[in-house]
Amino acid sequence: MRCQKDWCYSNSMFTIKTSKVLQIHSVWYGILKWVICVLIIIYVCIGLWSKKMYQRQEPLISSVHTKIKGIAEVNIGNKTRVWDTADYTFPLQGNSFFVITNFVTTEDQMQGICPEYPTNRTCCSSDQDCRKGRINPLSKGVQTGNCIKYNMTNDHPKIHDLSDTCKHQKTCEVAAWCPIEPRKNAPRPALLASAENFTVLIKNSIHFPGHNYSTRNILPGIDISCTFHKTLKPDCPIFRLGDILQEAGANFSSVAIHGGIVGIEIYWDCNLDAWFYSCKPKYSFHNLDDEMTKSLHPESSWFASVLSGSFRYAKYYKEGGVEKRTLIKAFGVRFDILVFGTGGKFDIIQLIMYIGSTLSYFGLATVLIDFLIHMYTMNCCRSWVYRFCKVCEPCAVNEDYYKRKYETSLEPKSALKYFSFVDEPCIRVVKQDSLKESLQDMKSEEIPRPQKNFIKLANLSPPPHPDASSSHVPQEEIQLLIEKPTSPPQARPEWCRCGHCHPSQLPESSKFIEELCCRRERGPCITTSALFEELVLSRSTLRFILLYQEPLLEMDADALNNQLRRCAYRCYIEWRFGYEDMADLAILPSCCRWKIRECFPKKDGNYTGFRSPNRQGHI
Ligand code: ZN
Ligand code: ZN
Repeated sequence: MRCQKDWCYSNSMFTIKTSKVLQIHSVWYGILKWVICVLIIIYVCIGLWSKKMYQRQEPLISSVHTKIKGIAEVNIGNKTRVWDTADYTFPLQGNSFFVITNFVTTEDQMQGICPEYPTNRTCCSSDQDCRKGRINPLSKGVQTGNCIKYNMTNDHPKIHDLSDTCKHQKTCEVAAWCPIEPRKNAPRPALLASAENFTVLIKNSIHFPGHNYSTRNILPGIDISCTFHKTLKPDCPIFRLGDILQEAGANFSSVAIHGGIVGIEIYWDCNLDAWFYSCKPKYSFHNLDDEMTKSLHPESSWFASVLSGSFRYAKYYKEGGVEKRTLIKAFGVRFDILVFGTGGKFDIIQLIMYIGSTLSYFGLATVLIDFLIHMYTMNCCRSWVYRFCKVCEPCAVNEDYYKRKYETSLEPKSALKYFSFVDEPCIRVVKQDSLKESLQDMKSEEIPRPQKNFIKLANLSPPPHPDASSSHVPQEEIQLLIEKPTSPPQARPEWCRCGHCHPSQLPESSKFIEELCCRRERGPCITTSALFEELVLSRSTLRFILLYQEPLLEMDADALNNQLRRCAYRCYIEWRFGYEDMADLAILPSCCRWKIRECFPKKDGNYTGFRSPNRQGHI
C-alpha cells in the first residue's frame, strides 16, 4: 500500500532495524553446528524428562498421627513392673512423639524441710553460708538459713568427687519436696532397652493446595500387619524403633541410656499426570543428635545429660491424707516426623517457559564457530590451530571468513594524513603536526587496507561508448592536450624511488608533504602501469564518473580539465586506499600527481598543491 502522508516516510515509528547476518557455506562448520545442536536438543530433552520441567510443582501440606505399640518388662531391684504404651510414651507438640527408654525415680517425696543434696555448689560449712529465703536456680527449694548434715546412703557413689568444703557433707537446709532428688547417673543398660521392639504406626495425610489433590500413606488394601523394611517392605507404615535407629546409623541400646533425637523423613515426590501417575512416600531416617559433641565427651555423664532429651515428671498420690509424689527423671528418644515434597502436574506455561529458556543454548553453536574463526588471529594459537585446521578448515579459509565477518571501518581523522606505497599491502598514517622531514622517510603507523569487492570492481569500468574514442574528443580538449606540460624537466629528487617524481614547488616550510614517492623500495613507477592509464587517466572513465554524478554537467572547456584532474585524483585515492571519505586526507605520490597534471593541465600552470580538507584537497 502506498503511503499518502509525508510523516509516514520520516516517522521512525514505522522502521525496523535488524542485524545483518553472514552466511558461511562450510561442510565442517555445518557438521559442527549440527553436532552442537543435536547435543543441546538431547540435553534439553533429558532435562525436560528427568526434572519434569513440563510440570508445575506445588508444595504440600500434611498432617501426621502416630500410634505406638509394645510392652516392656522393667526390673528394679527385685521388683518387676510391666510398662505399656500409657507409661512410656508422650505425644508432643507438632509431628513428634517421645518414647521413654530409661529413667531415675525418687520415691515418696512430700512437702517438708530437708538438707540439699551435696554438690560443690550446695555444700556449706556454717549457717553463714546459707540465707533464709534465698532461691538458688540450681537448687530444689527455698533456703531456711540453716547448714545441716546430709545423711549419705549407699545410693550415692559419687561422693569422692566433692571438694573439701563438702568433706563434712553439710548442706543448706531447704523447704522443698523431700527427700531431695539425688544426683544419680542414668542406669546402664537402659531400663527399657526392650523398647527397641516397640512399633510405631505413622498415619500421614497430605494435600497439594495448588493441584487440589489429597492422598495418604495408608491406602485401602495395604497389609496392616507388616513391618517396614527398606527394600522388602518400603511402603509399610509400621516401623520398629530399633530399625529406625539402625537406619539412622545409631545403636539403640546406647542411645537408650541418655536419649536422643531421630528424624523420620517422609518424602513425597508426586507425579499427578494421569499417564505417569505415581504418588508414594519414601521414608528415610536421620540421627538429629549431635553425635560429634557426644563422642568428644563419651565419659562425661554430665555432658550427656545436658545434651540428652531428659525431662522430669511426677505421679501424685495421697497417703494418709498427705500428698506425696514419685518423681521420675525420664530419658528417651524423641522422634520428629518431617514431611516434605512436591507434586507436579503438566502445565503448558511451564513447558513454554522451559523451552524459551533453553533457546539461548542454541546460540552456543554460533559462539563456538565464531571463536574458531576468530582463533586464527591469535598468534599464540596459530601453530596449534594450523595443525587442527589441517583436518577441518585451512587457515586461509578462516581468514577469509574473519575478514568478511569483521569489516574494518576506518574513520578518517583530519589531523592525520594517509599515504600508501605500491609495494606494500597496508595504508600508512602520520600526524600532520609531526611533518619535519620528507613524507617518504617518516616513521608511520600501518593500518589494513580494506578488501575490494570484486563484483563492484567489475562495474568500475564504464561501458564502452562510441563517443568515448579519442577521435570524438571535442576540439578544445585536444588543444589542451597537446599543450606542453607545465613542469620543467628537472633532476629527480633523492627521496624518489621510482624515477618519475618531481621536487615540490611548495614553500620550504610545507614542502615535506609533497615529498612522497609511489614506492618504498626502488622499482617501476605506478604511473607506468596499464591500470593507471585506465583507472586514473582514461578520459572516457573520468567523463563517465563526472556525468554519473551530475548527468547534466556543463562540459565547459576551461573548467573541464580542472574537473577531470580532480576526478582523477579521487580515482587514484579510491583505487589505492579503498576507503571512502579519504579524498581530502590522502596524500598522492609526487609522480602520480605530476602525471595527472600533465594529462589534465591547468591553464596557467600554477598548482596550489595539497590544501586543507575544506579546500578540496588536491587542486
Ligand atoms: Zn618517485
Ligand atoms: Zn612513481
